[in-house]
Amino acid sequence: MEIYLDANATTPVLAQAREAAVAAMAEEYGNPSSIHSTGLRARSLIDDVRARARRVLDAPTGRLLFTSGATEGIQTAVLSALVSLRDRRERGEAIPGLLLYGATEHKAVPESLRHWNALLELGLDVQAIPVGPDGRHDLAWLRERAPQAGLVCTMAANNETGIVSDIDALEQALAGSPALWLVDGVQALGKLALRLASRRIDYAPFSGHKLYAPKGIGMLYVREGAPFTPLLAGGGQESAQRSGTENMAGVAALGAVLQALEDGGTFADAATLRAWRNELGAALLEAFPALVFNAPPALALPTTLNFSVPGLSSKLLLDLFDAADVRVSGGSACSAAKAQPSYVLQAMGLPEWQTASAVRLSFGPAADDAFIAEACARIRACGRSLRDSCLVPSEPKALPPDGLTRFIVDGACCYLLADAASRRCVVVDPLPELTERLAGLLRCQRYTLAAVLDTHSHGDHASSAGELRAAVSELIDGAGPLDPLGWPLDAREIALGALRLGRLPVPGHTLDSTAYLLHDADGLRAAFVGDTVMPGALGRSDFAQSAPLAFGASLLKLAQVVGPATLLLPGHDYDDRFASNLATERRAQPLLARVLGGGLDAAGFAAAKAELERDLGLSTYSTLACGARVDVRVETASQDLTPAQLQALLAQHPDLLLVDVREPYEQRLGQAPRLDAPRVRHQAIALSQLLQALPEWLALPAPTPVVFYCRSGNRSAQAAEALRRLGHERAWSLSGGLALWRPETREAAVAA
Ligand code: PLP
Repeated sequence: MEIYLDANATTPVLAQAREAAVAAMAEEYGNPSSIHSTGLRARSLIDDVRARARRVLDAPTGRLLFTSGATEGIQTAVLSALVSLRDRRERGEAIPGLLLYGATEHKAVPESLRHWNALLELGLDVQAIPVGPDGRHDLAWLRERAPQAGLVCTMAANNETGIVSDIDALEQALAGSPALWLVDGVQALGKLALRLASRRIDYAPFSGHKLYAPKGIGMLYVREGAPFTPLLAGGGQESAQRSGTENMAGVAALGAVLQALEDGGTFADAATLRAWRNELGAALLEAFPALVFNAPPALALPTTLNFSVPGLSSKLLLDLFDAADVRVSGGSACSAAKAQPSYVLQAMGLPEWQTASAVRLSFGPAADDAFIAEACARIRACGRSLRDSCLVPSEPKALPPDGLTRFIVDGACCYLLADAASRRCVVVDPLPELTERLAGLLRCQRYTLAAVLDTHSHGDHASSAGELRAAVSELIDGAGPLDPLGWPLDAREIALGALRLGRLPVPGHTLDSTAYLLHDADGLRAAFVGDTVMPGALGRSDFAQSAPLAFGASLLKLAQVVGPATLLLPGHDYDDRFASNLATERRAQPLLARVLGGGLDAAGFAAAKAELERDLGLSTYSTLACGARVDVRVETASQDLTPAQLQALLAQHPDLLLVDVREPYEQRLGQAPRLDAPRVRHQAIALSQLLQALPEWLALPAPTPVVFYCRSGNRSAQAAEALRRLGHERAWSLSGGLALWRPETREAAVAA
């Protein structure tokens, strides 16, 4: 069962609202403008719903029109206010010069203000009203500017944090101001009484889908006497306030929701909602003891919790919750895909890590005790899963997933090489963002840290190796002297059980650039090459001290030591290629092929590089500010596979390899796709451990299909592309991931 905790983004449609919509489509399908009986019945329905809305909103007077949603309501309100200001100016009146909106307002508000301000050529000054650390408006700031404001927009409650505005205090701050006042009531509907009749609010937009009505229906209240200009002109529907044949199914469904509000019994009261939120909050704190709430609960809607967990990104938490079939959102729904910091939390002045890793959990007032209890149980299970993966503090434990793990932060790669038997490990190219996480992981898994190595010194910042060593000082093996890159001066190689690390100087990117060569019992297995080779690019040679000759010579030297298929593990990976090898790079990069073909002296190398730069255009290089980025993509046919295509592939290859690339903490919580295919070979290799398995897959017979899947299809696409690029062309990604792999799709696929 899905536990849907994203009600501030949208809600499911209430059963009685669905029934009302179906009736409006199947039986009462008339056009309310028609004067025959069918039309009259539709007119009667819309009149009834409007009357109900007026009662629920306490808006007996003024306009109350049905819209497609809040965004349309906001447009209509802003257009109305701004047209009136323009008309006054055209009549020669002096008009106020400011348009104000709360800094945490939904984007629909400031974007509409800017849009209509520009379109109507008003040139007014659009300013954000600052908010305090509690998310509430700075009333002193507003009081000072209110006399010059033509329109003030403030939300009743915030969609990300749930913070409820102090509407009475805002009203007082606006006393004596000539401003029109828009209050965005979207998140308040059914949760807070706006008392429209007794307040000076001029415009209040609402969206039905935030309270169990379908998407596509909303309402706009306009105070009697407030300026009004229709956004849509045409057939004169809605008393010419909003032309276009009415969305009767939506109106009917919204009517059913309003009736539920009026009748009581469907939605929980405020005390119950608060009790539920407390239960959820306690479950969250139990699951993630370091969690911080990003908004004071006492000031927030009782249905919203916004939190961050130190060291855990919102993407990680979303993946984790989703694996447990719990839907939450990162920051606000609209910007969740981009994983940008939340501007709402930024406006509240919260620290950067909190604004960048926020998660919002919101439920609707139609929830019940059983739902909340199940939600709490799943949240606790998520916490256990992270503890079992050593991602939140837990009892020390020795887990098996040793080997090679890659971490990536903004394109920079860090590797943890760990040996299960000896419990010794090495970190290559540590990153400051990972210090805490790595320290927790090593402590929890009882590793001894044999070395922290950098592949080169950095021009602009210090390595975080010292920071990591200090964080896990009790786990460090040996206290002997180290070279500046962290290599123990007295060691020829570093041993981790059966694994051995050696080093090879490869000056070029910097004078001290070094490759670390990883050997196992079978020989050279991989090389950590830092910035000397980047997948799809030559590597960086942008430092003054790196003469092209040194760089070219280092590439040649590397080519003499590593084989064409040895995995090269880069210091940066901007295109999710994970790893490369010289055979692939030779194919992808003509210049590398020429360098490795031998015979290019310094001048030849510089000339070839200049030629390439000219051919490719400098922008190719400037994107990364590096001297030799070639970025030639190996184009291949689509790697996406629909469930039906997977079925066709299965018919040909019943023993294909199906790989779950989700992280272990997700795999533990979630189900694998159910396939009626007994011979399929299942593997679980998290994307972060892909490097570990690449050699095995590359050694498969060429016709063997490898199909990757994950939660949404992104990580599996990366895995498929990386494997294809390295030479195994029959690699695919299950498109849409488990999110689209619903039982019915599964059955359809199996039946196909
Ligand atoms: N205002 C607030 C506070 C919201 O939360 C939303 C939706 O998230 C909107 C406005 C826009 O509503 P819609 O997308 O339904 O038009």
